[in-house]
Amino acid sequence: MLDILAFGAHSDDVEIGMGGTIAKYTKKGFRIGICDLTQAELSSNGTVETRKNEAALAAEILGAGPRISLALPDRGLFLNQAAVMEAVSVIRMYKPKLVFVPYQKDRHPDHGHAAEIVEEAVFSAGIHKYEDAKKQPAHKVQNIYYYMINGFHKPEFVIDISETMAQKKESLGAYQSQFSRSEQSVETPLTNGYIETVEAREKLLGKEAGVTYAEGFFSKRTLLLNNDLFGGG
Ligand SMILES: [Zn+2]
Repeated sequence: MLDILAFGAHSDDVEIGMGGTIAKYTKKGFRIGICDLTQAELSSNGTVETRKNEAALAAEILGAGPRISLALPDRGLFLNQAAVMEAVSVIRMYKPKLVFVPYQKDRHPDHGHAAEIVEEAVFSAGIHKYEDAKKQPAHKVQNIYYYMINGFHKPEFVIDISETMAQKKESLGAYQSQFSRSEQSVETPLTNGYIETVEAREKLLGKEAGVTYAEGFFSKRTLLLNNDLFGGG
């Protein structure tokens, strides 16, 4: 029932990688859900509760929903049957046409592990005889795309987010415990100009494609150019 289901390891992953794309497509009326695999209980800053509230606000800013939070262990995201089955249940329940996951080349190993679990889940979700805990019918996802969190790599395609970059920044701003410094906060890569770095990356990606801001993505399957040969589609 969703057009897109975007998975992340931690809440804020999806916003960092594709917040602008989500805002762009929810504005057009597409239904986009976000699923965080862990509750990010090992984050240096913020409690699980604070982060949940921040995540709900960020999703609202992007027009996304539902925001689903699984309780797989933070830093314990490894490919195993139980983790895959939980992701299968979510995929079958929300029936997304497209699934987005983190790109594997990323300094945080959980991001790549999240992608592995969801890739397996997308495959298993389409198998009729594979039973999930809720015994839901099989669902076939059309394609999986990969978004960048920490890395800067040459993407296989970009999406113009010039109109929604401001909304993306606002959604990242919702994670005050992660991106703002306070007297109690521990200094991390995130508290040190992280949002500005993400903005600079999207600006550079945009420049490469001749627009103001863009988000970059990857696809394992070869993409078919449908109606955009002259840039109008
Ligand atoms: Zn993360």
